[in-house]
Amino acid sequence: MDNANNYDIIVIGSGPGGQQAAVEGTKSGKRVALIERARNVGGECVFHGTIPSKTLREAALNLTNLRSVSNIFQYELRSDVEIHSLMGRLDEVLALQKTSIEEEMRRNDVNLIHGKASLVDQNQVRVQHIDGSSSILSAKNIVIATGSRPRRPPEIPVDHEHILDSDSILSLIYLPQSLTVLGGGVISSEYASIFALLGVKVTMIDRAPRPLMFMDPELVNSYLEHFKQNGGEHYGSAEITSVTWDGVSQVVTKLASGDVISSDKLLVALGRLANVEGLGLETVGIEQTKRGHIVVDDQYQTNIPNIYAVGDVVGRPSLAASAMEQGRRAVCHALGMGDTGVDFSYLPIGIYAIPEMASVGLSEEEAREKFGDIYVGKANFADIARAQISGATTGLLKLVVAPDGQQLLGVHIVSQGAADLIHAGELALLNGNKVSIFQENVLNFPTMSQAYRVAALDVFHQVMNRTAEPVLT
Ligand SMILES: Cc1cc2nc3c(=O)[nH]c(=O)nc-3n(C[C@H](O)[C@H](O)[C@H](O)COP(=O)(O)OP(=O)(O)OC[C@H]3O[C@@H](n4cnc5c(N)ncnc54)[C@H](O)[C@@H]3O)c2cc1C
Repeated sequence: MDNANNYDIIVIGSGPGGQQAAVEGTKSGKRVALIERARNVGGECVFHGTIPSKTLREAALNLTNLRSVSNIFQYELRSDVEIHSLMGRLDEVLALQKTSIEEEMRRNDVNLIHGKASLVDQNQVRVQHIDGSSSILSAKNIVIATGSRPRRPPEIPVDHEHILDSDSILSLIYLPQSLTVLGGGVISSEYASIFALLGVKVTMIDRAPRPLMFMDPELVNSYLEHFKQNGGEHYGSAEITSVTWDGVSQVVTKLASGDVISSDKLLVALGRLANVEGLGLETVGIEQTKRGHIVVDDQYQTNIPNIYAVGDVVGRPSLAASAMEQGRRAVCHALGMGDTGVDFSYLPIGIYAIPEMASVGLSEEEAREKFGDIYVGKANFADIARAQISGATTGLLKLVVAPDGQQLLGVHIVSQGAADLIHAGELALLNGNKVSIFQENVLNFPTMSQAYRVAALDVFHQVMNRTAEPVLT
């Protein structure tokens, strides 16, 4: 084999997982090829996922800020406003993302190759180039980071005009008057709350009784309350019997309960499928789950020891930040750098619904199951000065604390900025800090972080009350 096509590591897919794996490889002095089939690098994260949805979200938040000063300024959202103009900064953000990712790859000497990759054997990868030619690359280690795409259930006729998925929803030209959102996961919860805030009549329909079943129910209730205040409607424990476009103006959704919901547009967000087709997994004998995800161990190694898989292609948690860490961990393991020491039990979750939700560590329920009579300290943002000033009084912060009243076990937040606020809790957990760290150290005032102090004081008072309880004889 030509030496030029011989690498230490081949990474397939340039989303957050692939980028991080590639950079970790070259930083360790290895020769790395990163293969991407799309025209641009960055993956689903940059072009259909995280970045575009957060840009529209920013527009919705700006609108809320304007509304909060409507007694001073006169404004009105035009009924013919184009979605593209609401996301005016998207092109700029995408261009910046593209340049910074390409620059990072160049700076780190990652060899970026455009084409569709498939495994020939456990050390060789075929690249089908855009001009129709192909080449074979070889490497000691291979990292698969091919991501995922929206699942399109066959019974729902997605046409990308009236019935859309998360890849096509932002191609809508105008804001619809009404939108039905199928699903209760992260993507549906985010888009439902964003569109509701933009004045669209949103109806969420899901099989589960409440959205985001893996999150703290109190956080989700706060989210739902806010969603309903913005005109949103939620049908939980619902069975969909049919979805059809009436050929004129409405998408009609029928439920087993007899309810019929009509809306201008419908968003299907009923899960995602791993991008594994044509990768040659069977040729090499790589194990997959029933749902098509690649099976890996906790170092992201597949059953073929020199082949790793990271990011959405391995399933949950399917978040950009975890894909990055998985990519790093896989390459460290492949290069014999051992356990990276990252404690994945403290992996934060950030959900950019409105309001944001974030969690790290044990939930109240898990902590109770494991430790018994725990403490839960709470702070309502309605009592926090900074939240009052910003008009962001919706939400709460919860500290889950061990029965000794000291050991911090988990942090759960629903509020503006929750995805950032969670990191103070994450660091406290990683350092094994006691809950008193939030009382005994100075937190800037006024800040949203003051909620940590209020919740810690709440735990302190509960501990005092519990220990002061008279013993019945
Ligand atoms: C609407 C939406 C909003 C989201 N919001 C957030 C958020 O706020 N925060 C967050 O953390 N996560 C968010 N996510 C999830 C996040 O985007 C994904 O978890 C992340 O992109 C996964 O990264 P990845 O590296 O596994 O794959 P991807 O980003 O999907 O990249 C995979 C890449 O592999 C390429 N590829 C596939 N097959 C081949 C092949 N055979 N040969 C060569 N290249 C190939 C693809 O073209 C793609 O570029 C969101 C997702 C969506 C859909």
